[in-house]
Amino acid sequence: MRFPARLSIPDAVLKIARQLETAGYETWCVGGAIRDNLLGVENHDFDLTTAAPPAEVQRLFKRTVPVGIEHGTVAVLDRGNHAHEVTTFRKDIKTDGRHAVVEFGVSLMDDLARRDFTINAIAYHPIRHEWRDPFKGADDLEHKLIRSVGDANWRFQEDYLRILRALRFSARFQFRIHPATLEAAKANAQGLAQLSAERVRDEWFKGIHTAVRVSKLLERWMEVGAARIWLPEIRDAGSGMRDALKAVDRLPRDPVLITAHLASDPASLLTRLKCSNKEIERGRAIGQRRDTYPDAKHLPTVRRWLSEVGEYADDLLALLSARPASRIPHPGLAKVVASIRAAKDPLHVKDLAVTGDDLLAAGVRPGPDVGAALERLLAEVLEDPTRNTRAYLLSRV
Ligand code: ATP
Ligand code: MG
Repeated sequence: MRFPARLSIPDAVLKIARQLETAGYETWCVGGAIRDNLLGVENHDFDLTTAAPPAEVQRLFKRTVPVGIEHGTVAVLDRGNHAHEVTTFRKDIKTDGRHAVVEFGVSLMDDLARRDFTINAIAYHPIRHEWRDPFKGADDLEHKLIRSVGDANWRFQEDYLRILRALRFSARFQFRIHPATLEAAKANAQGLAQLSAERVRDEWFKGIHTAVRVSKLLERWMEVGAARIWLPEIRDAGSGMRDALKAVDRLPRDPVLITAHLASDPASLLTRLKCSNKEIERGRAIGQRRDTYPDAKHLPTVRRWLSEVGEYADDLLALLSARPASRIPHPGLAKVVASIRAAKDPLHVKDLAVTGDDLLAAGVRPGPDVGAALERLLAEVLEDPTRNTRAYLLSRV
């Protein structure tokens, strides 16, 4: 691949680079934005790498945030409060598969050598318009290849997250993983168990957002053995799995919904990934309810279902509509739900024309009787929403 004579660099980034260079520190654009520009896809996240030590970066710019200072990363805020990451040239001198101890004061070449894949290790000088591509990342871009910088085994053992990053980039750009890199990924998959759940979750969710097809991403996770370790609830269950895989590409890009759809026990998977309680509950509801849908032809049944599933109705409808036509038990459910919603039919106790206080005034005993009476009234109203008048409901108490 031939490099373009120049890249258009956002003004704010250029300004930061100029200031560092004027202060005597060599500064280059690297990483994802360079890769994506060469591929012709938009990416405005131009990372800078510089010879300036972190303290110098903090001194040279008025407004900075030490986002990853121990690794040499300082965010410089521009006028619009947009953060631009500036990272000091560094080399990893000690690693344990999860963290690295880094050393500054090294060259651009050392800095490029510590990066994960050749396509992520291309540097462009925003002022001199020079290119540095010691690992031939541009050729790999042209041949659509994800290839480790240096020895893949060693690089994955330094940081096992790189295995998951390879799978993500592969699914995002529809690139093959170079055979030696893929073999090393498989051989080192067990090391993924050491990673923190948060980092794994972030990778999995980012992958779901960026993959051209989520099914391909999942196939990659399975092929390499990452799914076995982190997503064991997603099992290859023969033909059922094939349906699930096809359906996954028809679902909205919602990582929790997609993960829940794929898992036999969504709550346990989302718990392993340290998702929020709200997300885990959402997964649990999906797992419990995805096998039984109401008969779309019977309105009261649909209303009762809506009342029970509450906020999860749309998730369940999304899962239903992603199924192959032959496996949709009640076609038309979404339309019926829409009509019930448009009619603003009462679905919950709070929608009733009477309150607990009304029932007390009408002589219901304080305590659990009130709740039970409201539930009974709701059942009547779900059967026939025209019953939701004060007069009718009080007559039923
Ligand atoms: P994205 O579009 O997902 O942001 P990116 O390539 O910019 O892709 P980042 O996570 O933003 O990815 O990292 C920026 C750069 O830092 C990468 O391009 C790569 O050079 C380097 N890098 C990031 N994570 C690692 C890692 N775990 N090991 C080695 N190098 C890494
Ligand atoms: Mg990035």
